[in-house]
Formats: sequence, C-alpha cells, structure tokens
Amino acid sequence: MKEFKAQSKKLLDLVVNSIYVNREIFLRELISNASDALDKRRFMSLTDSTLAADFGIEIKVDKDKRTLTISDNGVGMTEKELEDHLGVIAASGTEVFKKEQNVKDNAELIGQFGVGFYSAFMVAKSVTVISKKVGETQAHSWTSDGVEGFDIAPATRDGAGTDVVITLKDDDGEDKYSEFLQSYRISKLVKKYSDYIRYPITMMTEMYTEDREKADEVTILNSMTPVWKKQKSDLGENELDEFYKNSFRDYRNPIHNIFTRVEGAVDYTALLFVPAEPPFDYYTKDYKRGLSLYCNGVLIMDTCAELLPEYLGFVRGVVDTPDLALNISRETLQHDRRLKAIANGLEKKILSELEKLLKNDREKFEKIFTQFGKAIKFGAYNNYGADKDKLKDLLMYYSDKNKKLVTYKEYTDGLAEKAPVLYACGETIEKISMLPQLEVARDKGDDVLYFVDPVDEFVARMLEDYEGHKFNNIASSATDGEVKTEKPNHKDLLKRIEEKLGGKATVTATDKLKSYPVCLAAKGDVSLEMERIMDAMGGGIKAERVLQVNLDHPIILGMEGLSDEAFADTVTVLYNEALIAEGYKTEPEFLAAINRLLAPAEAKPAAKKSAAKKADKKENEEN
Ligand code: ADP
Repeated sequence: MKEFKAQSKKLLDLVVNSIYVNREIFLRELISNASDALDKRRFMSLTDSTLAADFGIEIKVDKDKRTLTISDNGVGMTEKELEDHLGVIAASGTEVFKKEQNVKDNAELIGQFGVGFYSAFMVAKSVTVISKKVGETQAHSWTSDGVEGFDIAPATRDGAGTDVVITLKDDDGEDKYSEFLQSYRISKLVKKYSDYIRYPITMMTEMYTEDREKADEVTILNSMTPVWKKQKSDLGENELDEFYKNSFRDYRNPIHNIFTRVEGAVDYTALLFVPAEPPFDYYTKDYKRGLSLYCNGVLIMDTCAELLPEYLGFVRGVVDTPDLALNISRETLQHDRRLKAIANGLEKKILSELEKLLKNDREKFEKIFTQFGKAIKFGAYNNYGADKDKLKDLLMYYSDKNKKLVTYKEYTDGLAEKAPVLYACGETIEKISMLPQLEVARDKGDDVLYFVDPVDEFVARMLEDYEGHKFNNIASSATDGEVKTEKPNHKDLLKRIEEKLGGKATVTATDKLKSYPVCLAAKGDVSLEMERIMDAMGGGIKAERVLQVNLDHPIILGMEGLSDEAFADTVTVLYNEALIAEGYKTEPEFLAAINRLLAPAEAKPAAKKSAAKKADKKENEEN
C-alpha cells in the first residue's frame, strides 16, 4: 500500500470525521471531474478524430452492494496519474486547508467549497477508481478507504475513461447514507448542481411497464444547455448564481453578474461575474486571471487572460463565440484580431456597467469598490496612466466632511474654479482623521479626501488634475509662504529649533495648525507617503522633511524662556510628536527627553546640583 502525503492525510481526516450538512456536494465534484476529463478528450479529438466518441457520464446504483458508480469516457488516467493525482489533495483543496486552520471553519468551508475527488470520502467507506488512459491498452484500479493510503493494481476496462465506484458508509442513526442509493435523490442532486454540464448525465432507473413489469430505463438527468445559451427570461431565480458557484468553486454568491449577447463584426455571448471577495490567491502570482473561452459550447481555454484588461482581473466568467476556429492554438489565439475585438467589447461593457451601478445602485458599487477598488486604482496608474481617463470617475475616496466614500466628481462639484482637491495620506481612515493638519481645513469648511492605499497618491500624480482642480497633499505643501504673526522674534526661534534638529528637518511656521504645536511635512516632489512606499520597495528616494510650527501655540510661546537643556528636550519631544502623528516610529532619545521634562524640579540634575551647593554653603557657614 502507498501512503497518502501528510497534508492530504490531515485534510482527509477532517473530511471523513466532520459532520456535513452538505456532504451531497461529493456528487457535484465527481461529475465536474468527469466533465473535465471529457473536455480534455473532446479537445484532443479535434485534431485526432480517432479519439471522437459519444461523450457522456453515466451513474449506476447498486442497492445490494451499496455502491454508486460515476463513469465517463473521457481522457482517463495512467497508472502514474492515478498515483499522482489521487494520492494528494489537489492544490486548490490544500489552499483551503492552509487558509483556514480552524477545524470547524474548515469543515464548513470544505462542505461548501469541496475538495474535489476527496469529498467522496464524506460518504464512502471505500472508493475504487478504474481508469484507462486514451491510447493505452492497460487499465488500472486505485482503491482506498481514505485513511492511510491506497493500492494500485492492473484492471480491465472497455475503452478509455474512468469509473469511480463508491461503496457507501453504513447508515448510522440519523446519518442515512442510503439516501444516495435512491434514484430520485440522485436525479435531484444532478439537477441542482450539475444541470449545466454539457455532456449527458444518464442514470439507469428501475421503471414499471404498463403490465407492471420491472424494467430498466435510461434517463438523461441534466438539461445540458449551458446557462449562457438560455434566454434570460428562461433562467431560474438563482440559476446564474448557482452556475457561478459551481463553475468557479466559490461558496458565496457573486456581487453582480453581467449577461450580454453581442452581434456584429464578431458575435459572442458573455456571462460575467464580480465575486463577493477576491479569491485567496488574488494578490499572488498564482492567481490565473481570465475568462473561460468556448467556441459553440466547446471549451477551448480555461482561463484566457487576453479577454480582460489586467485591472479587471477579478472578473470571472465565460465567453462563447462561434467565430473562432475550434482547433486554434494558444499562441495564434493570443494575436487573434477577433479575440481583441471581444476583449475591447467586454472592457467597455464592464466599465459602463460599473458606471451604471455607481449611478443607480450605489450600495452595490461601493461593495465592489471596497473589494476591488485597489485593482481599479492600479489600472489608472499602470502603463503610464494609459487608462486613467476611463477609470478616474470610478475611483472613490473617504471624505473627511461626509464620512463616506465620494468620487472626484462629487468632491469637485460646488468647488470654486481651480480650487485644489485636498487629500491626506495614511494607513487607515482612523489614523488620517487624527492628523493635526486636518484641523484648519475643517475650520475653513474644506473637505479632505483620505488616501489609504499606497497607490492613491501615485494615481493623483498621474491624473495631474481633475477637471482643472489640482491635487494638494495637506501634509506636503510645506512652503505656504509667509505666515502672519505678531511675534517679533519668531525667525530666531525657528532657527534655534532647526539647529537643535541637527539636519533632520528644516523648520517653518504654519497657520494650518490649531491645537497642535507642530506637524511634519515634506518639501519638493517627494511626499512623506511616497518616501515610505519607496522605502518598502528597497529605499532610495528621500523626502525633504519640514517641521511646521504653530507659532501661536502655548508650548511654542513658552519655549523662549527655557534653559538650553529644556529647549533641546522640548524640540526632541515636539519632533517625535510630529513623527507619531505621521505614523512613524519614534527616535530612541524621545523617552529620555520626556522623562527629563516631566521630572519634578528637585529631581532634575540642575536643581539637585544647586540644592547640593546650597547645602555645602550652609555646611561651610556652620563650620
Ligand atoms: P481538481 O479537480 O481540483 O484538480 P481533484 O482532487 O478533484 O482536484 O482531482 C485531482 C485530479 O485527478 C484532477 O485534476 C484530474 O487530473 C484527475 N481526475 C480526477 N477525476 C478524474 C476523471 N474522472 N478522469 C480523469 N482524471 C481525473
């Protein structure tokens, strides 16, 4: 016997020993595998006609042996493929396992999501797979009880394809595995989960003839019409959602679907979905962006990346066109004019649909933007902003004044001509909302947009302006010109503070602050936010830091009367306060400076010294 890999064993254990509300999905998983195998053989048969056959999936029930058999005449598996593919949990299943280490959640997730072939062990005491690969003469069997490992042996099978034979577990009180021996139950499940499968799924059913004789009848359980071939009016209420969940292995309903038929230079039907959340691998290199491409109902490519611009990579779905040659190769397909035409059409359609949602179903649009807004922002920035004008009106930012997401259009509506779009950068809405610089903007009644994604400021630079309104970082505009003040010596004070900072920042006065004494800003082209992003990417570009001082603040007003040591400590504390407000780490000397400033007078070294001196003097006098 060969042992299962460790990771698979753990997952199997979970599958077998959890109580499943929806263990019925095992049938869907096995039928999907059969359908995939048929797709592969059908595709091969396009160039090798000897592989053509009457493709189909057959379900057989044997009540006496308590077995359920799912057979297909697809590509089949070699001995090695049986071992490699069925000996380990498929990558997708393992990912689910890795993501959710909590056992209860796992059970839930697997139940809804499925772990492919292994889900058979939710209902099976043992599983035997008999398979013969196309073009081979020898078949093999793979048998396992789903616990430790599996056995592989030579077997016989007519023609290429695969039989998955499930021996059901014994009924155990409430747990009635026998339900899967009832033909009406099976036919209901096929209708529920696999109706759209393009190959006939047949079942032998016992029937009674008119003379009350028992006879077998072969019935086709599924309608076989791909959903996208149906008329919209014929679609069941949740049919599109169900199709999405089954086809794209998601257990959540999509946020939105787009169903479109286009007739023109190129004819095509597209059924597109915006998922509820990005898939777990969306931001990794593993994520395969693209749509499934069909030619008259025959799958040509699983994920055709050329059909979507990169920034819409989160959209899933299918495209079916009669206009491509069935046996077109991937390489030629990539340069196909018709494919480009479809891609352009889809991009326009998706964008116009998003615009429509923004107008008519704000809640839905915001849901989509919250999940995938980052992708759209990258779209506006990438390729030197080639798509920025298409996308700028879909971008949303949290508004300081309205406490909700607004578009640039909404922000600039009612703004004076040429008045800037004010923004502030930070890690979270909460952190930005506490920036000292916001106070004066708020006092003046100016709205400020919150840039929480690192890419936001880059997009603003790319756009340059929105309908004539330039972008203005409220933390960056360090050189605001002269600040009016009654204080005569303020220049000297600023110079003295700058000296104490020892080159860490230059110092200017500002009227942007109210209750805060200082804030940090940047001079020139590189903002603090940009410096941070550059740092994260390996460093290099530095912002020119400016400490902006509120000359009317009591702390600043009181600084002139301080001793040199206390002045230096106050500068350190103020500078670190500005760092904190901007989300930076503090400097090591910060804490010592606070401690010295807060220490009661008699504990201060200077005070101690003079106290000691006095005592000495007294002693001397006494002597
Ligand atoms: P997934 O379908 O997600 O890849 P599975 O665990 O369901 O994961 O299946 C693992 C692999 O086993 C499949 O990718 C496929 O190569 C192979 N396989 C499963 N069932 C069949 C079948 N009926 N015919 C041919 N190959 C199959």
